[in-house]
Amino acid sequence: MKHFPIFLAVEGRRIVLSGGGDAALAKLRLLLKTEAHLTVFAPTPAPEIEDWAAAGRLRLVRRAMEPGDTLCAKLFYAADEDRVEDARTAAIASADGALVNIVDNLGDSQFITPAIVDRDPVTVAIGTEGAAPVLARAIKADLEERLPASLGTLARLGKAFRRAVEILPMGRRRRDFWADYYFTSGPRALEQGGEDEIKITLQALLDKHEIKPEREGHVAFVGAGPGDPELLTLKARKALDAADVVIHDRLVTPEILELARREAVLIDAGKEGFGPSMSQDDINALIVTHAKTGAQVVRLKGGDPTIFGRLDEEIDAVSEAGIGWHVVPGITAASASVAAIGQSLTKRGRNASARLLTGHDMKGFADQDWRALARVGEVAAIYMGKKSARFIQGRLIMQGADRTTPITVIENASRPDQRILATTLDALPSALTKADFTGPALMFYGLSPRETQASLAQIQQQELA
Ligand code: SAH
Repeated sequence: MKHFPIFLAVEGRRIVLSGGGDAALAKLRLLLKTEAHLTVFAPTPAPEIEDWAAAGRLRLVRRAMEPGDTLCAKLFYAADEDRVEDARTAAIASADGALVNIVDNLGDSQFITPAIVDRDPVTVAIGTEGAAPVLARAIKADLEERLPASLGTLARLGKAFRRAVEILPMGRRRRDFWADYYFTSGPRALEQGGEDEIKITLQALLDKHEIKPEREGHVAFVGAGPGDPELLTLKARKALDAADVVIHDRLVTPEILELARREAVLIDAGKEGFGPSMSQDDINALIVTHAKTGAQVVRLKGGDPTIFGRLDEEIDAVSEAGIGWHVVPGITAASASVAAIGQSLTKRGRNASARLLTGHDMKGFADQDWRALARVGEVAAIYMGKKSARFIQGRLIMQGADRTTPITVIENASRPDQRILATTLDALPSALTKADFTGPALMFYGLSPRETQASLAQIQQQELA
């Protein structure tokens, strides 16, 4: 180890930086996280530095550094990105007694700045002694993803509670308490009620761990997004990481199920288009039964669980059973599909609202306010609309909709086998028959693929023809 990591006390201390360009900005962004007094010497500072100075976050001196400018400074950064100037300012700072870092010059630097994951007061510093900055960035990205954004707040409040937790025997019981706090109950409480809720939660958690150390079951209703695993939220990933049981529907792709904890039990509660293959009551019972054994259950639903997902029925069943639950939102099919055609769902001057409709409901074809939809400029995302396309077309035309209204159907949005069909209200049923979509498909009424993407859609249409 050629460099020894330490955490330097900088509160109220002086840190000086010379430079006004990109290198200076990168360092300043880090330094501004500290409670140090920052001084920047730059004859031509970048606008961001001017803004920080104007906001009182640092002191800006618009000239080159001179001897004596770094008196009493703890640290000095030479960030002019100019070998000669950096050597000159570094010599001044050294003479003034500051520890010196020359940006991108490891050999002449007395210290290096690590990559930082900031969950103040929890700080993770990553260094590779200049050997592999790429690796440092990858480790940082990995940690950023794994450590909840709320960790800092949780740590601060947790620290104040350490004494109280001493009533639990040392070892496993205490570890379980803190694990529960940092990774489950704490983040949830913070989300629901902020810091006040955390204080209540800490006490309640302690009471719980004091009487019964065994875990309680819980159900997370998690949105799996449209299929691309990269469109999962970090919260969804965490829930999958912690799951004992994952109950998923047909829309959830195998790539996403791969991400569940190795030991997790995967249950397919898949339902076919018309009529469920497992009844809703059976699914509700399945969720409750597993949660009652103390399992962390993830009820994983395609897209966003709050959109055409029969979420309320499942929540009712779970809460009637006295089991805790929470919802993790996901990217709905309409969002992924509209992104695929390069359009936006609402647009100034075209439509100030967009509807999410279902083509069928439990009774069959779903009736909607077709007359309102038939007006010019309306936009609707129609879920589960494949089988009812002819019915929808008929209703809209009957209500006076223009037959040339664009319709775009996106099959398997966000997945490698995504297909786009651009057609019109008039041609919809025949175009759909030709396309013979077998995957989930979302239909946009009133939207066509953006010009620059139209050729792509046409090619696909020709291939289908
Ligand atoms: N909760 C889901 C919707 C469930 S209803 C969500 O928010 O997306 C099921 C319908 O969603 C399918 O019939 C289809 O119309 C649509 N859908 C889901 N995933 C899709 C995808 N990847 N591409 C296109 N449509 C999709």
